[in-house]
Amino acid sequence: VRRNPGEAEFHQAVREVLESLDPVVKKRPEYVEYGIIPRICEPNRQIIFKVNWQDDKGRVHTNRGFRVQFNSALGPYKGGLRFHPSVYLGIIKFLGFEQIFKNALTGMPIGGGKGGSDFDPKGKSDHEIMRFCQAFMTELSGHIGHDIDVPAGDIGVGGREIGYMFGQYKRMTGRYESGVLTGKGLTWGGSRARTEATGYGTVFFADEMLKLSNESFEGKKVVVSGSGNVAIYALEKLNQLGATVVAMSDSGGYIVDEGGIDLAQMQELKEVRRGRISEYADANSSARFVEGGQIWDVPCDIALPCATQNELSIGGARALIKNGCTLVAEGANMPSTPDAIRAFRDGGVRFAPGKAANAGGVATSALEMQQNASRDSWSFEHTEERLQDIMVGIHERCAETAEEYGRPGDYVTGANIAGFIRVADAMMALGVI
Ligand code: NDP
Repeated sequence: VRRNPGEAEFHQAVREVLESLDPVVKKRPEYVEYGIIPRICEPNRQIIFKVNWQDDKGRVHTNRGFRVQFNSALGPYKGGLRFHPSVYLGIIKFLGFEQIFKNALTGMPIGGGKGGSDFDPKGKSDHEIMRFCQAFMTELSGHIGHDIDVPAGDIGVGGREIGYMFGQYKRMTGRYESGVLTGKGLTWGGSRARTEATGYGTVFFADEMLKLSNESFEGKKVVVSGSGNVAIYALEKLNQLGATVVAMSDSGGYIVDEGGIDLAQMQELKEVRRGRISEYADANSSARFVEGGQIWDVPCDIALPCATQNELSIGGARALIKNGCTLVAEGANMPSTPDAIRAFRDGGVRFAPGKAANAGGVATSALEMQQNASRDSWSFEHTEERLQDIMVGIHERCAETAEEYGRPGDYVTGANIAGFIRVADAMMALGVI
Protein backbone atom coordinates (compact mmCIF):
# COMPACT_ATOMS: atom_id res chain seq x y z
CA VAL A 1 0.00 0.00 0.00
CA ARG A 2 2.89 2.35 0.83
CA ARG A 3 4.59 1.54 -2.47
CA ASN A 4 1.45 2.21 -4.55
CA PRO A 5 -0.43 4.94 -2.65
CA GLY A 6 -4.04 5.70 -3.49
CA GLU A 7 -4.50 2.78 -5.90
CA ALA A 8 -7.47 1.20 -4.09
CA GLU A 9 -8.64 -1.09 -6.91
CA PHE A 10 -5.11 -2.39 -7.47
CA HIS A 11 -4.74 -3.18 -3.75
CA GLN A 12 -8.10 -4.99 -3.82
CA ALA A 13 -7.11 -7.14 -6.82
CA VAL A 14 -3.69 -8.03 -5.39
CA ARG A 15 -5.09 -8.87 -1.96
CA GLU A 16 -7.70 -11.17 -3.51
CA VAL A 17 -5.05 -13.15 -5.40
CA LEU A 18 -2.47 -13.29 -2.61
CA GLU A 19 -5.06 -14.53 -0.11
CA SER A 20 -5.48 -17.64 -2.26
CA LEU A 21 -1.79 -18.42 -2.61
CA ASP A 22 -0.83 -19.54 0.91
CA PRO A 23 -1.15 -23.27 0.16
CA VAL A 24 0.89 -22.95 -3.05
CA VAL A 25 3.74 -21.11 -1.38
CA LYS A 26 3.82 -23.77 1.35
CA LYS A 27 4.00 -26.52 -1.24
CA ARG A 28 6.49 -24.73 -3.52
CA PRO A 29 8.94 -22.72 -1.33
CA GLU A 30 11.14 -22.07 -4.39
CA TYR A 31 8.60 -19.42 -5.48
CA VAL A 32 9.56 -17.42 -2.38
CA GLU A 33 13.27 -18.01 -2.92
CA TYR A 34 12.98 -16.62 -6.46
CA GLY A 35 10.95 -13.63 -5.27
CA ILE A 36 8.06 -14.52 -7.55
CA ILE A 37 5.36 -12.76 -5.50
CA PRO A 38 6.93 -9.29 -5.33
CA ARG A 39 8.05 -9.64 -8.95
CA ILE A 40 4.57 -10.54 -10.19
CA CYS A 41 3.03 -7.58 -8.31
CA GLU A 42 5.33 -5.03 -9.97
CA PRO A 43 4.58 -4.09 -13.61
CA ASN A 44 7.51 -4.49 -16.00
CA ARG A 45 6.79 -1.01 -17.38
CA GLN A 46 4.18 1.74 -16.91
CA ILE A 47 3.74 4.33 -19.63
CA ILE A 48 1.80 7.53 -18.91
CA PHE A 49 1.37 10.12 -21.63
CA LYS A 50 -0.46 13.29 -22.59
CA VAL A 51 -3.18 13.21 -25.24
CA ASN A 52 -4.13 16.55 -26.79
CA TRP A 53 -7.08 16.62 -29.17
CA GLN A 54 -9.49 19.15 -30.67
CA ASP A 55 -13.27 19.01 -30.44
CA ASP A 56 -15.61 19.98 -33.29
CA LYS A 57 -15.56 23.62 -32.21
CA GLY A 58 -11.77 23.72 -32.36
CA ARG A 59 -11.29 23.78 -28.57
CA VAL A 60 -8.26 21.88 -27.31
CA HIS A 61 -8.60 19.20 -24.61
CA THR A 62 -5.92 17.40 -22.66
CA ASN A 63 -6.41 13.85 -21.40
CA ARG A 64 -4.09 11.32 -19.83
CA GLY A 65 -3.19 8.03 -21.52
CA PHE A 66 -1.87 4.86 -19.89
CA ARG A 67 -0.36 1.54 -20.86
CA VAL A 68 0.79 -0.80 -18.12
CA GLN A 69 2.90 -3.69 -19.43
CA PHE A 70 2.60 -6.00 -16.48
CA ASN A 71 4.07 -9.40 -17.22
CA SER A 72 5.41 -11.02 -20.39
CA ALA A 73 6.59 -14.40 -19.11
CA LEU A 74 4.07 -16.27 -21.28
CA GLY A 75 3.97 -14.07 -24.38
CA PRO A 76 3.54 -10.49 -25.60
CA TYR A 77 1.57 -8.21 -23.28
CA LYS A 78 -2.13 -8.55 -24.04
CA GLY A 79 -5.11 -6.67 -22.63
CA GLY A 80 -7.65 -4.03 -23.53
CA LEU A 81 -7.83 -0.25 -23.58
CA ARG A 82 -10.50 1.48 -21.50
CA PHE A 83 -11.82 4.97 -22.24
CA HIS A 84 -13.83 6.17 -19.25
CA PRO A 85 -13.62 9.29 -17.03
CA SER A 86 -12.93 7.11 -13.95
CA VAL A 87 -9.66 5.80 -15.42
CA TYR A 88 -6.47 6.46 -13.43
CA LEU A 89 -3.33 4.43 -12.76
CA GLY A 90 -4.97 2.34 -9.99
CA ILE A 91 -7.73 1.09 -12.34
CA ILE A 92 -5.32 0.24 -15.15
CA LYS A 93 -3.02 -1.60 -12.74
CA PHE A 94 -5.84 -3.65 -11.24
CA LEU A 95 -7.00 -4.63 -14.71
CA GLY A 96 -3.44 -5.40 -15.86
CA PHE A 97 -2.76 -7.52 -12.79
CA GLU A 98 -5.96 -9.55 -13.26
CA GLN A 99 -5.10 -9.94 -16.91
CA ILE A 100 -1.86 -11.84 -16.13
CA PHE A 101 -3.74 -14.69 -14.45
CA LYS A 102 -6.70 -14.64 -16.82
CA ASN A 103 -4.44 -14.92 -19.84
CA ALA A 104 -2.50 -17.72 -18.18
CA LEU A 105 -5.75 -19.61 -17.53
CA THR A 106 -6.62 -19.60 -21.23
CA GLY A 107 -3.55 -21.79 -21.84
CA MET A 108 -2.50 -19.47 -24.69
CA PRO A 109 0.86 -17.72 -25.19
CA ILE A 110 -0.07 -14.21 -23.98
CA GLY A 111 1.28 -12.01 -21.19
CA GLY A 112 -0.73 -9.44 -19.24
CA GLY A 113 -1.17 -5.70 -19.81
CA LYS A 114 -3.85 -3.01 -19.86
CA GLY A 115 -4.26 0.60 -20.89
CA GLY A 116 -6.69 3.41 -21.49
CA SER A 117 -7.52 7.02 -20.85
CA ASP A 118 -9.72 9.23 -18.69
CA PHE A 119 -11.32 10.45 -21.95
CA ASP A 120 -15.14 10.27 -21.83
CA PRO A 121 -16.55 9.07 -25.17
CA LYS A 122 -20.16 9.83 -24.13
CA GLY A 123 -21.77 12.56 -26.20
CA LYS A 124 -18.76 12.92 -28.52
CA SER A 125 -19.22 13.05 -32.29
CA ASP A 126 -17.65 10.46 -34.58
CA HIS A 127 -15.05 13.00 -35.67
CA GLU A 128 -14.13 13.80 -32.10
CA ILE A 129 -13.73 10.09 -31.31
CA MET A 130 -11.51 9.74 -34.38
CA ARG A 131 -9.29 12.67 -33.48
CA PHE A 132 -8.93 11.43 -29.92
CA CYS A 133 -8.08 7.86 -31.04
CA GLN A 134 -5.48 9.20 -33.49
CA ALA A 135 -3.86 11.40 -30.85
CA PHE A 136 -3.86 8.50 -28.37
CA MET A 137 -2.25 6.13 -30.88
CA THR A 138 0.34 8.71 -31.90
CA GLU A 139 1.74 8.44 -28.37
CA LEU A 140 1.15 4.71 -27.87
CA SER A 141 2.48 3.45 -31.20
CA GLY A 142 6.13 3.37 -30.19
CA HIS A 143 5.41 0.95 -27.36
CA ILE A 144 3.34 -1.76 -29.09
CA GLY A 145 3.80 -4.37 -31.82
CA HIS A 146 2.57 -7.85 -32.67
CA ASP A 147 5.29 -9.54 -30.60
CA ILE A 148 5.64 -6.75 -28.01
CA ASP A 149 2.22 -5.66 -26.80
CA VAL A 150 -1.17 -6.18 -28.45
CA PRO A 151 -3.99 -3.95 -27.11
CA ALA A 152 -7.73 -4.58 -27.64
CA GLY A 153 -11.05 -3.03 -26.54
CA ASP A 154 -12.66 -2.67 -23.12
CA ILE A 155 -15.20 -0.22 -21.68
CA GLY A 156 -15.67 2.64 -24.17
CA VAL A 157 -13.48 1.00 -26.81
CA GLY A 158 -15.22 -1.12 -29.47
CA GLY A 159 -14.81 -1.77 -33.18
CA ARG A 160 -15.08 1.89 -34.15
CA GLU A 161 -12.27 3.01 -31.81
CA ILE A 162 -10.03 0.03 -32.72
CA GLY A 163 -10.51 1.01 -36.38
CA TYR A 164 -9.38 4.61 -35.86
CA MET A 165 -6.40 3.48 -33.78
CA PHE A 166 -5.39 0.79 -36.29
CA GLY A 167 -5.63 3.34 -39.11
CA GLN A 168 -3.36 5.76 -37.28
CA TYR A 169 -0.84 3.00 -36.44
CA LYS A 170 -0.77 2.00 -40.12
CA ARG A 171 -0.27 5.60 -41.19
CA MET A 172 2.55 6.18 -38.71
CA THR A 173 4.49 2.98 -39.34
CA GLY A 174 3.68 2.52 -43.02
CA ARG A 175 3.03 -1.16 -42.31
CA TYR A 176 -0.12 -3.28 -42.38
CA GLU A 177 0.68 -5.04 -39.13
CA SER A 178 -2.62 -6.85 -38.53
CA GLY A 179 -1.48 -8.46 -35.29
CA VAL A 180 -0.81 -5.18 -33.46
CA LEU A 181 -4.40 -4.79 -32.23
CA THR A 182 -7.30 -7.20 -31.79
CA GLY A 183 -11.03 -6.56 -32.01
CA LYS A 184 -10.62 -5.43 -35.62
CA GLY A 185 -13.45 -5.40 -38.19
CA LEU A 186 -13.97 -8.52 -40.31
CA THR A 187 -12.81 -6.95 -43.58
CA TRP A 188 -9.51 -5.71 -42.15
CA GLY A 189 -8.10 -8.59 -40.14
CA GLY A 190 -10.67 -9.18 -37.41
CA SER A 191 -11.87 -12.55 -36.19
CA ARG A 192 -15.39 -13.82 -36.45
CA ALA A 193 -16.94 -14.34 -32.98
CA ARG A 194 -14.57 -11.85 -31.28
CA THR A 195 -17.42 -9.38 -30.70
CA GLU A 196 -19.52 -12.12 -29.14
CA ALA A 197 -16.69 -13.90 -27.31
CA THR A 198 -16.71 -12.44 -23.80
CA GLY A 199 -20.47 -12.64 -23.32
CA TYR A 200 -20.74 -16.08 -24.93
CA GLY A 201 -17.73 -17.31 -22.95
CA THR A 202 -19.23 -16.24 -19.63
CA VAL A 203 -22.41 -18.14 -20.43
CA PHE A 204 -20.43 -21.22 -21.53
CA PHE A 205 -18.53 -21.13 -18.23
CA ALA A 206 -21.73 -20.82 -16.17
CA ASP A 207 -23.25 -23.64 -18.20
CA GLU A 208 -20.35 -25.90 -17.18
CA MET A 209 -21.04 -25.02 -13.54
CA LEU A 210 -24.71 -25.92 -13.98
CA LYS A 211 -23.87 -29.23 -15.64
CA LEU A 212 -22.12 -30.38 -12.45
CA SER A 213 -25.53 -30.56 -10.79
CA ASN A 214 -27.34 -31.79 -13.90
CA GLU A 215 -28.93 -28.41 -14.53
CA SER A 216 -29.08 -26.24 -17.62
CA PHE A 217 -30.08 -22.67 -18.57
CA GLU A 218 -33.40 -23.89 -19.98
CA GLY A 219 -36.21 -22.02 -18.22
CA LYS A 220 -33.87 -20.08 -15.91
CA LYS A 221 -34.48 -16.41 -15.05
CA VAL A 222 -31.30 -14.38 -15.44
CA VAL A 223 -30.29 -10.83 -14.48
CA VAL A 224 -27.47 -9.34 -16.59
CA SER A 225 -26.04 -5.99 -15.51
CA GLY A 226 -24.70 -3.55 -18.10
CA SER A 227 -25.80 -3.27 -21.72
CA GLY A 228 -22.48 -3.01 -23.51
CA ASN A 229 -20.48 -5.52 -25.50
CA VAL A 230 -20.29 -8.22 -22.83
CA ALA A 231 -23.90 -7.90 -21.62
CA ILE A 232 -25.47 -7.92 -25.09
CA TYR A 233 -23.74 -11.12 -26.23
CA ALA A 234 -24.40 -12.80 -22.89
CA LEU A 235 -28.06 -12.02 -23.61
CA GLU A 236 -27.81 -13.56 -27.07
CA LYS A 237 -26.26 -16.82 -25.85
CA LEU A 238 -28.67 -17.03 -22.89
CA ASN A 239 -31.60 -16.73 -25.29
CA GLN A 240 -30.13 -19.50 -27.44
CA LEU A 241 -29.86 -21.76 -24.38
CA GLY A 242 -33.49 -21.18 -23.36
CA ALA A 243 -33.01 -18.75 -20.47
CA THR A 244 -35.00 -15.52 -20.00
CA VAL A 245 -33.10 -12.32 -19.26
CA VAL A 246 -35.44 -10.26 -17.11
CA ALA A 247 -33.25 -7.22 -16.34
CA MET A 248 -30.34 -5.21 -17.79
CA SER A 249 -28.80 -1.84 -16.91
CA ASP A 250 -26.54 1.08 -17.74
CA SER A 251 -25.09 3.73 -15.48
CA GLY A 252 -28.47 5.55 -15.41
CA GLY A 253 -30.53 2.68 -13.98
CA TYR A 254 -32.05 -0.65 -14.96
CA ILE A 255 -34.97 -2.07 -16.91
CA VAL A 256 -37.15 -5.04 -16.00
CA ASP A 257 -39.07 -7.04 -18.58
CA GLU A 258 -40.45 -10.28 -17.18
CA GLY A 259 -41.24 -11.57 -20.66
CA GLY A 260 -37.57 -11.38 -21.61
CA ILE A 261 -35.48 -8.52 -23.02
CA ASP A 262 -35.46 -8.36 -26.80
CA LEU A 263 -31.97 -8.79 -28.30
CA ALA A 264 -32.57 -7.03 -31.62
CA GLN A 265 -34.02 -3.95 -29.91
CA MET A 266 -31.17 -3.83 -27.44
CA GLN A 267 -28.60 -4.06 -30.22
CA GLU A 268 -30.27 -1.30 -32.19
CA LEU A 269 -30.50 0.90 -29.10
CA LYS A 270 -26.96 0.40 -27.82
CA GLU A 271 -24.86 -0.51 -30.86
CA VAL A 272 -26.49 1.64 -33.54
CA ARG A 273 -28.12 4.58 -31.78
CA ARG A 274 -25.82 4.55 -28.71
CA GLY A 275 -28.86 5.52 -26.61
CA ARG A 276 -29.79 5.12 -22.93
CA ILE A 277 -31.40 1.99 -21.52
CA SER A 278 -34.41 4.00 -20.28
CA GLU A 279 -35.42 4.36 -23.95
CA TYR A 280 -36.04 0.59 -24.07
CA ALA A 281 -38.83 1.01 -21.51
CA ASP A 282 -40.21 4.01 -23.43
CA ALA A 283 -40.64 1.77 -26.48
CA ASN A 284 -41.95 -1.38 -24.69
CA SER A 285 -45.05 -1.37 -22.52
CA SER A 286 -44.02 -4.70 -20.94
CA ALA A 287 -40.83 -3.11 -19.58
CA ARG A 288 -40.28 -0.65 -16.74
CA PHE A 289 -37.27 1.56 -16.03
CA VAL A 290 -35.92 2.09 -12.52
CA GLU A 291 -33.69 5.11 -12.23
CA GLY A 292 -30.59 4.53 -10.09
CA GLY A 293 -31.29 1.71 -7.63
CA GLN A 294 -29.68 -1.70 -7.77
CA ILE A 295 -30.51 -4.26 -10.41
CA TRP A 296 -29.76 -7.07 -7.92
CA ASP A 297 -33.15 -6.46 -6.27
CA VAL A 298 -34.79 -8.13 -9.28
CA PRO A 299 -35.51 -11.79 -8.39
CA CYS A 300 -33.58 -14.32 -10.53
CA ASP A 301 -32.04 -17.80 -10.56
CA ILE A 302 -28.71 -16.65 -11.98
CA ALA A 303 -26.91 -13.29 -12.04
CA LEU A 304 -24.22 -12.21 -14.50
CA PRO A 305 -22.60 -8.88 -13.54
CA CYS A 306 -21.31 -7.54 -16.88
CA ALA A 307 -20.87 -3.78 -16.33
CA THR A 308 -17.94 -2.62 -14.17
CA GLN A 309 -15.80 -3.10 -11.06
CA ASN A 310 -17.43 -3.12 -7.61
CA GLU A 311 -20.97 -2.86 -8.99
CA LEU A 312 -22.17 -5.76 -6.81
CA SER A 313 -21.67 -5.00 -3.15
CA ILE A 314 -22.85 -6.71 0.02
CA GLY A 315 -26.36 -5.20 -0.26
CA GLY A 316 -26.71 -6.60 -3.75
CA ALA A 317 -25.38 -9.99 -2.69
CA ARG A 318 -27.86 -10.19 0.19
CA ALA A 319 -30.76 -9.27 -2.11
CA LEU A 320 -29.73 -11.96 -4.62
CA ILE A 321 -29.42 -14.63 -1.92
CA LYS A 322 -32.74 -13.66 -0.31
CA ASN A 323 -34.51 -13.98 -3.68
CA GLY A 324 -33.11 -17.46 -4.33
CA CYS A 325 -30.27 -16.79 -6.77
CA THR A 326 -27.99 -19.84 -6.81
CA LEU A 327 -25.23 -18.91 -9.26
CA VAL A 328 -23.21 -15.78 -10.04
CA ALA A 329 -20.68 -15.64 -12.90
CA GLU A 330 -18.72 -12.44 -13.55
CA GLY A 331 -18.67 -11.15 -17.12
CA ALA A 332 -17.06 -7.89 -15.98
CA ASN A 333 -13.69 -7.51 -14.24
CA MET A 334 -13.96 -7.58 -10.42
CA PRO A 335 -17.64 -6.51 -10.31
CA SER A 336 -18.22 -8.16 -6.91
CA THR A 337 -16.75 -6.58 -3.78
CA PRO A 338 -14.82 -8.86 -1.37
CA ASP A 339 -17.68 -8.90 1.17
CA ALA A 340 -20.17 -9.81 -1.55
CA ILE A 341 -17.95 -12.76 -2.55
CA ARG A 342 -17.78 -13.86 1.11
CA ALA A 343 -21.58 -13.63 1.34
CA PHE A 344 -21.94 -15.87 -1.73
CA ARG A 345 -19.50 -18.37 -0.23
CA ASP A 346 -21.34 -18.40 3.13
CA GLY A 347 -24.74 -18.48 1.45
CA GLY A 348 -23.91 -21.48 -0.75
CA VAL A 349 -24.12 -19.51 -4.01
CA ARG A 350 -21.88 -20.91 -6.75
CA PHE A 351 -19.53 -18.11 -7.78
CA ALA A 352 -17.21 -17.72 -10.80
CA PRO A 353 -14.68 -14.86 -10.75
CA GLY A 354 -14.16 -12.70 -13.85
CA LYS A 355 -10.62 -13.82 -14.47
CA ALA A 356 -11.99 -17.27 -15.26
CA ALA A 357 -15.52 -16.60 -16.50
CA ASN A 358 -14.76 -13.66 -18.82
CA ALA A 359 -11.53 -15.03 -20.29
CA GLY A 360 -13.32 -15.92 -23.54
CA GLY A 361 -12.74 -12.41 -24.90
CA VAL A 362 -8.99 -12.44 -24.61
CA ALA A 363 -8.83 -16.09 -25.68
CA THR A 364 -10.60 -15.19 -28.92
CA SER A 365 -8.25 -12.22 -29.30
CA ALA A 366 -5.43 -14.75 -29.19
CA LEU A 367 -7.28 -16.70 -31.90
CA GLU A 368 -7.43 -13.45 -33.91
CA MET A 369 -3.63 -13.16 -33.53
CA GLN A 370 -3.27 -16.73 -34.81
CA GLN A 371 -5.40 -15.94 -37.86
CA ASN A 372 -3.40 -12.76 -38.52
CA ALA A 373 -0.09 -14.63 -38.24
CA SER A 374 -1.22 -17.24 -40.77
CA ARG A 375 -3.15 -14.70 -42.92
CA ASP A 376 -6.20 -16.90 -42.50
CA SER A 377 -9.84 -16.28 -41.65
CA TRP A 378 -11.85 -18.93 -39.86
CA SER A 379 -15.62 -19.47 -39.98
CA PHE A 380 -17.87 -18.31 -37.14
CA GLU A 381 -18.75 -21.90 -36.25
CA HIS A 382 -15.12 -23.01 -36.05
CA THR A 383 -14.13 -20.01 -33.92
CA GLU A 384 -17.10 -20.37 -31.59
CA GLU A 385 -16.33 -24.06 -31.18
CA ARG A 386 -12.75 -23.25 -30.21
CA LEU A 387 -14.01 -20.61 -27.77
CA GLN A 388 -16.34 -23.13 -26.15
CA ASP A 389 -13.54 -25.71 -25.87
CA ILE A 390 -11.32 -23.09 -24.23
CA MET A 391 -14.04 -22.17 -21.70
CA VAL A 392 -14.65 -25.84 -20.89
CA GLY A 393 -10.89 -26.20 -20.38
CA ILE A 394 -10.68 -23.17 -18.07
CA HIS A 395 -13.61 -24.46 -16.05
CA GLU A 396 -11.96 -27.85 -15.69
CA ARG A 397 -8.59 -26.32 -14.70
CA CYS A 398 -10.21 -24.14 -12.03
CA ALA A 399 -12.39 -26.93 -10.63
CA GLU A 400 -9.52 -29.45 -10.52
CA THR A 401 -7.09 -27.00 -8.93
CA ALA A 402 -9.64 -26.03 -6.27
CA GLU A 403 -10.11 -29.72 -5.51
CA GLU A 404 -6.35 -30.39 -5.41
CA TYR A 405 -5.82 -27.59 -2.89
CA GLY A 406 -8.65 -28.76 -0.62
CA ARG A 407 -11.26 -26.18 -1.66
CA PRO A 408 -13.70 -28.08 -3.90
CA GLY A 409 -16.19 -25.79 -5.68
CA ASP A 410 -14.14 -22.67 -4.84
CA TYR A 411 -13.51 -21.18 -8.29
CA VAL A 412 -11.77 -18.12 -6.81
CA THR A 413 -9.03 -20.25 -5.28
CA GLY A 414 -8.91 -22.54 -8.30
CA ALA A 415 -8.53 -19.69 -10.81
CA ASN A 416 -5.95 -17.77 -8.78
CA ILE A 417 -3.77 -20.81 -8.10
CA ALA A 418 -3.98 -22.33 -11.60
CA GLY A 419 -3.20 -18.98 -13.26
CA PHE A 420 -0.40 -18.17 -10.83
CA ILE A 421 1.41 -21.50 -11.18
CA ARG A 422 1.56 -21.24 -14.96
CA VAL A 423 3.08 -17.75 -14.85
CA ALA A 424 5.36 -18.48 -11.88
CA ASP A 425 6.83 -21.58 -13.53
CA ALA A 426 7.57 -19.61 -16.71
CA MET A 427 9.18 -16.81 -14.68
CA MET A 428 11.39 -19.36 -12.90
CA ALA A 429 12.40 -20.92 -16.21
CA LEU A 430 13.36 -17.53 -17.66
CA GLY A 431 15.61 -16.68 -14.71
CA VAL A 432 15.91 -13.45 -12.80
CA ILE A 433 15.24 -10.83 -15.50
P1 NDP B 1 -18.95 -1.42 -22.78
O1 NDP B 1 -18.36 -0.05 -22.78
O2 NDP B 1 -19.37 -2.02 -24.08
O3 NDP B 1 -20.20 -1.47 -21.79
C1 NDP B 1 -20.11 -1.15 -20.45
C2 NDP B 1 -21.49 -1.21 -19.86
O4 NDP B 1 -21.40 -1.08 -18.44
C3 NDP B 1 -22.39 -0.07 -20.33
O5 NDP B 1 -23.71 -0.53 -20.38
C4 NDP B 1 -22.20 0.97 -19.22
O6 NDP B 1 -23.26 1.90 -19.10
C5 NDP B 1 -22.17 0.06 -18.02
N1 NDP B 1 -21.51 0.73 -16.91
C6 NDP B 1 -20.28 1.30 -16.90
N2 NDP B 1 -20.05 1.83 -15.70
C7 NDP B 1 -21.16 1.61 -14.96
C8 NDP B 1 -21.51 1.92 -13.63
N3 NDP B 1 -20.70 2.59 -12.82
N4 NDP B 1 -22.73 1.50 -13.19
C9 NDP B 1 -23.58 0.81 -14.01
N5 NDP B 1 -23.28 0.50 -15.28
C10 NDP B 1 -22.09 0.89 -15.73
O7 NDP B 1 -17.87 -2.35 -22.04
P2 NDP B 1 -17.73 -3.93 -22.09
O8 NDP B 1 -19.06 -4.57 -22.19
O9 NDP B 1 -16.69 -4.25 -23.08
O10 NDP B 1 -17.08 -4.22 -20.66
C11 NDP B 1 -17.86 -4.50 -19.51
C12 NDP B 1 -17.00 -5.18 -18.45
O11 NDP B 1 -16.47 -6.40 -18.98
C13 NDP B 1 -15.79 -4.39 -17.98
O12 NDP B 1 -15.54 -4.71 -16.63
C14 NDP B 1 -14.66 -4.95 -18.84
O13 NDP B 1 -13.39 -4.76 -18.24
C15 NDP B 1 -15.06 -6.41 -18.86
N6 NDP B 1 -14.48 -7.20 -19.94
C16 NDP B 1 -14.70 -6.87 -21.26
C17 NDP B 1 -14.18 -7.65 -22.26
C18 NDP B 1 -14.50 -7.40 -23.70
O14 NDP B 1 -14.13 -8.24 -24.52
N7 NDP B 1 -15.16 -6.34 -24.06
C19 NDP B 1 -13.29 -8.79 -21.96
C20 NDP B 1 -13.21 -9.11 -20.56
C21 NDP B 1 -13.76 -8.31 -19.60
P3 NDP B 1 -23.06 3.42 -19.59
O15 NDP B 1 -23.13 3.33 -21.07
O16 NDP B 1 -24.17 4.16 -18.95
O17 NDP B 1 -21.70 3.86 -19.09
